[in-house]
Formats: sequence, structure tokens, C-alpha cells
Amino acid sequence: MSSENYFWHKKTWDQFSSAYAQNHLPHAILLTGPQGVGKSLFSQKLVKSLLCENPVAESWHACNQCQGCKTYDSGANPDFMSVQLLEEKQQIGVDQIRQVSRFLSYSRSFNAYRVVLIHPAERMNQHAANSLLKSLEEPGDNTIIILTATHLSNIIPTIKSRSQLLILSMPERNRAIEWLRTQKPDLENIEELLEISHGSPLIALNTSAETIEKRKELATDLLDVLEKNVSLTEIAKKWEKFDLETMLDWQIIWLQNILKRSSTANSISLQSAFQSKILAKLYKEIPVNSQWDLYQQLVLKKKILHTSVNAQINIENMLSLWLKESPI
Ligand SMILES: [Zn+2]
Repeated sequence: MSSENYFWHKKTWDQFSSAYAQNHLPHAILLTGPQGVGKSLFSQKLVKSLLCENPVAESWHACNQCQGCKTYDSGANPDFMSVQLLEEKQQIGVDQIRQVSRFLSYSRSFNAYRVVLIHPAERMNQHAANSLLKSLEEPGDNTIIILTATHLSNIIPTIKSRSQLLILSMPERNRAIEWLRTQKPDLENIEELLEISHGSPLIALNTSAETIEKRKELATDLLDVLEKNVSLTEIAKKWEKFDLETMLDWQIIWLQNILKRSSTANSISLQSAFQSKILAKLYKEIPVNSQWDLYQQLVLKKKILHTSVNAQINIENMLSLWLKESPI
């Protein structure tokens, strides 16, 4: 486990540690924040701090020395239970949550908290979520259940109302860029990287220069299709082997930016030079009243992506969404 502390986690950690210091920890913590903000790492730190028998003064980080810490590091802390998606499963099932109740009936081994981590909690099916309610109400002494979720709307209200929210937010753009520079001084196109990564410096760190080039190429090809310089079939054939979901993601972000441009005149100035040029052109090609339509269709297409159709046809369909909204 990384011992790194991300600066954008600090405010949230301080909230937690001050509750810890005042002995005001809730029975259940619902940790939420956008994809790529670092929920997984943060939740592991929470867990370890709670399992630690002797947390560091003031910061309340784990000491890394005690039996609680050592057994956690070796994956064998008897006071900790982790509930995740089982291999090849799309949902966390009721059997997994029943094991939680069983676990909570045992007594603690160490002189710290007993912790259950459910990650990601939004993958619990209805039955599992309902089954968790009782444990959330009476988890027992010195017991804390931590749930993580990217989209709070996927968590049932009865769970939300029994948990205390802990929110992680993405860092402010300039500070994220600064941080990326210190992490990887030779990183190029940082602004664009950050944009493709939905503002997440962690995702940006793992995005390659090749990806950025590919993205530019798709934007250029899309314009060529719209300007009728090249046939749709030709472009679809070219992109046939490329990941369709990634392509849709990029287009959805472009549309979001185009829509922002329609509502606020200056937001496009935040984009990198290449982005501005392409977006300005796409903006010109798609009439304002069709932009929202196109956006929704791309989002819908992403949702139904896994209904299998031949790759080339899938891409042709995707490109033709743009053509349909372009008046020429
Ligand atoms: Zn410790």
C-alpha cells in the first residue's frame, strides 16, 4: 500500500481526524467523490488508522508499528473485513453482506476499532443493501462500517441516512497541474492530459502521450467527416480496432465543453490551444439546438455499448450521430 498523502485529501482527512480526536466517530462512514479522486487509497488509510492501536498524535495516521498495523499490512488483521466485487461478478450479493453480520458477532482481537469496508458500496444489489441496514443500525461497540461510492444517487436513502458523509473533491486545476509537474517533470501536454482525465491528476499520471495523440487524431478525423473530406466508412474502418468506450468518453467531454461554450462565452479559454481550435470548429459545425441532442445520444450510446454489434458498424453509427446533427 502506498504511504503517499495527496494534498487534495487533506481537508477530508482533517474532518475525519478531528472527529476521531473528539471521540465522535460515527458507526458508518460513506466516503464519496468522483472517479479518480483516490477513494480507494483514502479508504485504506481510514481503515488502517482505525485498526491501529496507537495512531500518531494529531494526524491520527496509523503508526505502522503495532500489531493492528502489522497484521493489516500482511492482510491478516482479524478485526477487519473487506467486501468487494467477487471475480467476474457485477454486483455485491446478499451472501457477502450476511458474512458481515457474522463477522460483527465475533469479539475484537486488538485494542482498536473493528472495521468493515464495502468498496464500492454502489455495487450492492437491492437485497444486499437491505440486508446491510440492520448492521448499520447496530454494528456493535467500537465498530465502524466504511462504504465508498462514486455516485451517491446509487445508494439507497436508508443507507445514506444511517451514514456520515465524507466527501473527497478533485484538486483545483492549477494546483493539480503544479502537482503533476512535480511528479513527472518531463510530462508533456499536462493541461490536455488533465482534461481527458476528468480533472483527476491520478488518472492523468497514468495516461500516455500516445493516448493524447490518438485523441487529436480522432478529433481531426471527426472534423474531416463533418466537412465531407473523407467517407464515414473509411474512418470507421481506420478506428475499428480502437476502444469504443474511450472514443465515446472523449467525444462526451468535447460535447460538454461545446455546451459550456454555448452557455458561458469564455469557458473555452481554459482549453489548450489545440482543444480550442478543434472545439471552435466542432462548435461551428453543430447548431446550438442540436448540441444537447448529440450529447445525450453519445451518453446513451456509451450506456448500451455492450450490446454487441460489429465494431466497424458501431463506429459508423457513432460518427453518423455527428453527421445527423450537422446541417450541411
Ligand atoms: Zn499502529
